[in-house]
Order: sequence, then C-alpha cells, then structure tokens
Amino acid sequence: MTTSQDFNNLINGEWLAGPSTAPNLNPSNLADVVGHYTQGGADHVNAAVAAAQAAFPAWSTSGIQARSDALDNIGREILARKEELGILLAREEGKTRPEGIGEVTRAGHIFKFFAGECLRLSGETLPSVRPGIGIDITREPVGVVGLITPWNFPVAIPAWKIAPALAFGNCVVLKPADLVSGSAWALAEIISRSGIPAGVFNLVMGRGSVIGDALVNHPGVTAISFTGSVGVGGRIAQSAAQSFKKVQLEMGGKNPQIVLDDANLTQAVELCVQSSFFSTGQRCTASSRLIVTEGIYPAFIEAMKARMATLKVDDALKMGTDIGPVSSESQLAQNLSYIAIGKAEGATLACGGERLPRSSEGHEGYYMTPALFSESTPEMRINREEIFGPVASVICVKDYEEALATANDTPFGLAAGLATTSLKYATHFKRHSQSGMVMVNLPTAGVDYHVPFGGRKGSSYGPREQGKYAQEFFTTVKTAYTLA
Ligand code: NAP
Repeated sequence: MTTSQDFNNLINGEWLAGPSTAPNLNPSNLADVVGHYTQGGADHVNAAVAAAQAAFPAWSTSGIQARSDALDNIGREILARKEELGILLAREEGKTRPEGIGEVTRAGHIFKFFAGECLRLSGETLPSVRPGIGIDITREPVGVVGLITPWNFPVAIPAWKIAPALAFGNCVVLKPADLVSGSAWALAEIISRSGIPAGVFNLVMGRGSVIGDALVNHPGVTAISFTGSVGVGGRIAQSAAQSFKKVQLEMGGKNPQIVLDDANLTQAVELCVQSSFFSTGQRCTASSRLIVTEGIYPAFIEAMKARMATLKVDDALKMGTDIGPVSSESQLAQNLSYIAIGKAEGATLACGGERLPRSSEGHEGYYMTPALFSESTPEMRINREEIFGPVASVICVKDYEEALATANDTPFGLAAGLATTSLKYATHFKRHSQSGMVMVNLPTAGVDYHVPFGGRKGSSYGPREQGKYAQEFFTTVKTAYTLA
C-alpha cells in the first residue's frame, strides 16, 4: 500500500508544509510507505514558539474547566479510535498489533487522567513567622515547553508529556522522532480538534539535529522534556543549561532481572521472555541482563531456549505474531553488531540472533530472531551498553547478595526485577535496588499510567514523569506574602 498524501506541521492552528517531505516506511514490509511527512526547518520552530508564546497568556489563565474538557475530548477520541491508531502505530514502528492497540489505549487513559488532574492542582497556606502576615504557596505553569520524543512509544510518550503540559496551563511545541511521524501526526490532528485555541499545541516534524536543536536553543522556550538516548540527552542538558531552561530527561537502561533459586521457574521464564523480547526488546524498561543464581541456572537456560523456540517473529500486523520487526535498518545493524561483539567477548549464543530477511508472506523487512547469550560476565560490553533490541544475556551468580551487587553495577538505573518466593529477599530488594522502578515477580517492562515513572543515574535527570508527580516539572512554585 502506498500513499502520496503529505502530512504537514501544525503551527498556530494551521497545517504548514516544509521545504521537503520524507517517506515513512513500514519495517514489516519495506514496499509499504506509511506516508510522506513534512520536514520542517528552524523557521517552523521559530513560528511554533512565537505562536505558543502568543497563546500562553490566555491559555494559562483560561480556567481549569476548559483545559479539563479539552483533555477529556482528546482521551475519548483516542480510545474510540484505538484499533485504527494501534494498527497505524504497529505498521510504522513494528510492535505487534495488540501491543500497538495497548499503547494507544494507555495514551487515551493518560489524557483522561490529566483531565482530572488539572482540577486537583493544590497549594498551601501557611502562617508567617512575622505577625499579621499570611503566606500562600501556589503552582503556576512554566511557559512554552519543548517536548522531544523517541520512536519506540510513538503515541504513549508524547501523550504523557503533552497531557500534563496542557493540564497545568503550558503551551507546547512537540518534536517527535522522525521515524514515527505518522503516529505523532495522528495525535496532533486529534488535539487540533479538541477545543484548545490555536497556538497552544504545535507539532514540528523534521530531523532531530535541526528541529530538536533549534527548540532546545530557542530563547522563547522555558522548559524541555526529552526522552531518548543518553548521548542526545546529555547534549540537550548542556545546551539548556546555557539559557537556564528547566530540563527533564528520560534516557536509556540496562535493566537487570534477577532469578533466584527459589523462584517459580515457569513464571520466571515467562516474565524474562516478556520483558526482554516483547515489543522486539525496544523498550527502555526491557530487561537485558538476566542475573540467575547457580542452583537454577542450568534449568533456566534450558527452559528459556524451549520457550524462545515457540516465539513467532513475523509481520507486526499478522495475527499470532509474538515479535515484530526491528524498527529501522540502523537499529537492526546495531543489534547484529552486538551479537558479534558478544561472541567475540566469549559469551555463548544459546539461541537466536539471526537475521530473517522476509516475513512469512515474503515481504522484505527488518526481522531478527530474539537472542539469548549464556555464560556472560558483568564486564562484557553486552552487559554494560544499551543494545535496544531483542538481545538478553544471562549472568550466573552464587547467591542473592552477588545478584544484587551485579544488578546495581551499571551506569543506568531505570527498572529492576526480582523473581523469588522469598518475602525476605523481595523486601530487601525493593529497598536496595538502585533503580527508579522495582518489580517483584513481574516483568521490568509494563507500568501503570497514574504513578511516577523514571529512573536514577544515567537513566533519568530531573523530576519524574506521570501521575501526580508530573506537576513537579510542568509547574513552577510561587510563594506570596500578604500583610492582612
Ligand atoms: P534519540 O536518538 O536520542 O532521539 C530521541 C529524540 O531526540 C528524537 O526525536 C530525535 O529526533 C531527537 N534528536 C536527535 N538529535 C537531536 C539533537 N541534536 N537535539 C535535539 N533533539 C535531537 O533516541 P531514539 O533512538 O529515538 O530512542 C531510543 C532511546 O530512547 C533509547 O536509549 C531508550 O532507552 C530511550 N528511551 C527512554 C525512555 C525512558 O523513559 N527512560 C523511554 C523510551 C525510550 P530524530 O529521531 O528525528 O532524529
């Protein structure tokens, strides 16, 4: 299927074409062009920021009912169209159809959650230490916020930044990843009809090095919320600091999943397969280091190999597919290079890691079988660097204490999991894991939308996203003194 329709940027309520367009390919079938999407330039960023600045005074004082109604409208339409949008998402990103519909459903719930949350923004009233003076502590919107999002959750991540930004009275310029412009455009189109005034929400598509860079360095932008790689995030933090912008960065992971001797083996294997390989391993919360104590290690490897042999790698839209393609040619090349690196480092490729050129229906795509390394050691590159594909390695350890130390020995700290039947170890792990999110007998990937999301160390920088904690980034605190 091909289409020649152009999809343009949304600036001040108008759809504006850029100087060129880029085709967006379906990674399950490279002959399928999802659409041709505008590539804006710095002039589009300037126009979008100017529109957002102009819209800010009215929107930030518009009253919470108008904001709540708009967010509710967006959430309702997303949920009503979850099948169609989920299929679009699966077609352009490569996660399976149920995963795509699940992500869209989550995005709908996020907008509805923040439709309520903007009604609940509260402050404090305190007495002064000086007689006759009252103190009010309130939260106000930050201003114009630039949102820069990655390709792996093309609807949910924009949603969990846009919804709180708008709920708390900010104006937005969204720069989505170039690889998934279709999902971002569909979301922007829904937002454009939700009842919010022109200029409050703007979409600027185009290359990260052009649009993202212009947004980060624009003096009219007060805050940047970014999700993506550590390398780009670090550069954004440095640039934003020059102009004292507020910054929130959600970045990579090398998430550990511990399996102890006392774990339920079937349950442990299931959660490891789920969190390491589903969504093609392209989740920041995916577990890529499986840290297994020596008593259960041989049985675990055999059970993982048996379970992985049942996984169907195929077209993301085909019913029954467990694992869709890798999202892009460059990501596939990176995954395969780490297969070679792991072998060269001396780990054993227990199964998978093969390039599959075609789907079962003969379409050319970016397919590979999920890979499991056994006999890997903590210092190997495959255990230190984020691969961001369906590749996991198993590290054998003596006991819980060594497992915990190995789990924490990483520059990242996003999510960590423990499979055990021991309350003692579960309790200890929840307290001593150096990560932002801890899962006991659950996959490291898979979180709720109404509670904080984020990590420590190189995985996150700045306030948490989602739930009521989102107000930390998207509002600023004011302390007012009044002499009665
Ligand atoms: P990426 O290459 O860092 O890109 C992220 C975003 O930044 C994209 O929109 C990209 O635009 C843009 N960008 C690129 N260069 C830029 C620059 N110089 N200035 C400003 N923006 C720029 O990351 P990705 O490959 O899309 O996503 C994968 C990464 O995201 C992984 O590391 C994963 O762990 C991480 N991630 C983290 C979380 C979390 O919550 N912790 C969630 C999901 C993903 P273009 O793509 O259009 O160039």
